[in-house]
Amino acid sequence: MKHAILPALLLVFACEATPAGQPAGVPRPAPMPPAIAAPQDVDYHGTVQLRVDATDLDRKIFRVRESIPVSGAGRIDLLYPKWLPGTHGPGGPVASLAGLVITAAGQPVEWVRDTVEMTAFHLVIPEGATSLELEFQFLTAVNAKGGDVAVSPDILDLEWNTVVLYPAGYYVSRIQVEPSIKLPDGWRFATALETASLSGGEARFKPVSLETLVDSPILAGRYYNQVDLDPGAEFPVRLNVFADDPKYLEMGPGALAAYRALVPQVLKVFGSRHYNHYDFLLGLSDNLAGVGLEHHRSSENVTLPAYFTDWDKSVITRDLLPHEYIHSWNGKFRRPADLWTPDFNVPMRDSLLWVYEGQTDFWGKVLETRSGFLSKQQALDLLAFEAATFDNRPGRSWRALQDTTNGPVILAVQSGSSQPIQWGSWERNQDYYWEGVLIWLDADTMIRERTDGKRSLDDFARAFFGIDDGSFGTVTYTFDDVVKALNDVMAYDWAGFLHSRLEGHGPGAPLDGITRGGYRLVYTDKESTFYHSGEKPRKVADFDFSLGFVIEADATLSDVVWNSPAFAVGLTDGNQIVAVNGIAYDDDRLRDAIREAAKPGAAPISLLVRKGNRFSTVSLDYHGGLRYPHLERVAGTPALLDDVLAPRN
Ligand SMILES: [Zn+2]
Repeated sequence: MKHAILPALLLVFACEATPAGQPAGVPRPAPMPPAIAAPQDVDYHGTVQLRVDATDLDRKIFRVRESIPVSGAGRIDLLYPKWLPGTHGPGGPVASLAGLVITAAGQPVEWVRDTVEMTAFHLVIPEGATSLELEFQFLTAVNAKGGDVAVSPDILDLEWNTVVLYPAGYYVSRIQVEPSIKLPDGWRFATALETASLSGGEARFKPVSLETLVDSPILAGRYYNQVDLDPGAEFPVRLNVFADDPKYLEMGPGALAAYRALVPQVLKVFGSRHYNHYDFLLGLSDNLAGVGLEHHRSSENVTLPAYFTDWDKSVITRDLLPHEYIHSWNGKFRRPADLWTPDFNVPMRDSLLWVYEGQTDFWGKVLETRSGFLSKQQALDLLAFEAATFDNRPGRSWRALQDTTNGPVILAVQSGSSQPIQWGSWERNQDYYWEGVLIWLDADTMIRERTDGKRSLDDFARAFFGIDDGSFGTVTYTFDDVVKALNDVMAYDWAGFLHSRLEGHGPGAPLDGITRGGYRLVYTDKESTFYHSGEKPRKVADFDFSLGFVIEADATLSDVVWNSPAFAVGLTDGNQIVAVNGIAYDDDRLRDAIREAAKPGAAPISLLVRKGNRFSTVSLDYHGGLRYPHLERVAGTPALLDDVLAPRN
C-alpha cells in the first residue's frame, strides 16, 4: 500500500519542475511489443515431452518438466493457454504459474514476458540447441479464498492447460505432446487419454495433439469406482467416480437406471457418436471446487459428496452430467465458427452461445427427463421456475439476450467468473443458458404443431449434430447454418424468429413454447416439491417472486431482484434480516408475515435489518402474498410439452 503512493508524489514533483508558461510536450504512444507469431496450420517438428508431478498433496503444487524440441537458433515465443474451450473466455490462470526456469544445451535461457499479453514469453534459442528444457510449477489454490481448489487429500483434478507452455505459430492440433503424470501412492485415475505405460506411480500416455491433451483432463483419487453405462457397446461409455470417502461411491438403483437410460436416449436424438469411448469424470467432494466442463470424449464434473447417496434430494443438480455429455455433440463436435480458435491464445467470440449452451441446456433438461433423472412433474416444476425467473427479468429492458453471450468474456476481464453476481436480474450475465431453453422449446413446439407431430427439434438435432458418425473432429457453423438446418426440418422464417427473440426487449420471457405446449405459467402460495428441494440442500428460503430475494441460512439476503419490493426499500445482497414485525427472524415467521400482509387492509411488513454495523427498520408495502411458479395444464389443448418430455422408443 505504501509504495502505491510514490508515483503520485513523483508526478507532483515533475509538474512543479516544468517551467511556468512552457507547454508540456504532446505525449506519443510508445511502440507496442513485437507481434507474436500467428498460428499456422502446419506440423510442429518433434514431440513435446510433458511430465507432471502431482504428488504434493500438502502444498497442492503441480511440478512440471517440459521438453520442447527446437530446430535452429533464433527467437521463439512460448504461450500459456489463455482462451480455454468450454469456458468461452480468457480465464487461463497464468498468475499461478511460477518458478519458470528454461535451459538449452545445458545453458540458462533468459525469458521476457510480453508487456501486453501476459501469457506470452519471449526468448532466444541459443546456437546448437536441439530442445528447450522448461521447469515450472502450477500453484493450485490451497483453499477456496485462493481460487478454485483442484487438489484435496483424496482427489485431484488436473487440467493440462494449467501445466503447459507451447510454441507460438502453430495450430494446437499440429503440436504433438507426450504427457505423463506422477500420482500419489495407491491413487487411481481416469481420463480420455490412452495409457501407454504405468510404472513407479507414473502413468505415461500415448502422444496426442495439444488440442486433444487440453481436452483430456485427469481426475484421480484414493477412492474410485467405475461403472460401465453401456455394457457390451463397441464404443464404451463409462462413469468414473472419485469421492472424499468410499461410502459416497455407491450408486443406488434409481441413479444407475437413469444413467444407463441416458446413453440410448441421447443416441436416439443425435443418431451418431463423436467418440470412440466416453468417460464421465465425476468427483464427489466437499473439498474441491464445483466443476462442470465439457470435453469431446470425457467431461469433468465435481459436485457434492452425497450426489448418489442422497439421490432423492439431489434433484436440482442431476442435469450436470447429461448437460456435459450432450456437449460432445453440441459444442465439441459442432462449434460456432467464431468460437473455434486455432490455438489457445487467439480470442474467442461467443455470439452463438444460445445454441452452444442454450440448446445443450434444452437437451440436458429434456433428456434427463426422458431418461428418468427427473419425473415429468419435476421437469414441469423446473420449467415453471425457469420461465418465472426469466419472465421477471427487468434487465431485459436494457440488455437483449444476444448481448449476454458476451458474459463469459466480460466476467473474465472483470475478475474471474467466480465473482458473485450482485444484481443478476438486471445484469442478466449468462441468461443465454436458461432463456435458450425457452427459445428452443418455442421452436420445438412450433415444429410439432405445424407438422402435426411428424417433425420436431429431434430432427434438427439429428441433422445438425448427428452428421459424420464416428468423427471426433470439429465442424463449425454460423447463424445462417442454424437457420438453414431449421428450414430443412420445416420451412419458416427462422431468421426472423431467432432475431426477434435474441434482440428483443420483451416485455417478459419467450413463453410461447409453454403455451403452445398446452400449459400456462401461474403463481400460487404453495411451493412445488421440486422448488422446495432446490431450497433445502442450500438451506435457503426463496422469496424471489414475492418480496424479491433469497434468504440464506444466516438470514442474509442474496439474489435481491431489481425493482422488487425489497429493492424499493434499499435492501441489497448481504443485508441481514434480524426481526420480522418486531420478532426475531425465522423463515416461517416471514412466510406468516407475508400471508398476513395479503389480507384486506393489512399493515406493511416491518423488517429490522442489519447492514454492517448499522441497524434500521424498513417497511415493505407488499400485499401480494406468497408466490411460487407452476405450470398449469390448459384443458382441451394438445399437450405438446408432454410429447417433448416423453422417452423415445
Ligand atoms: Zn454447458
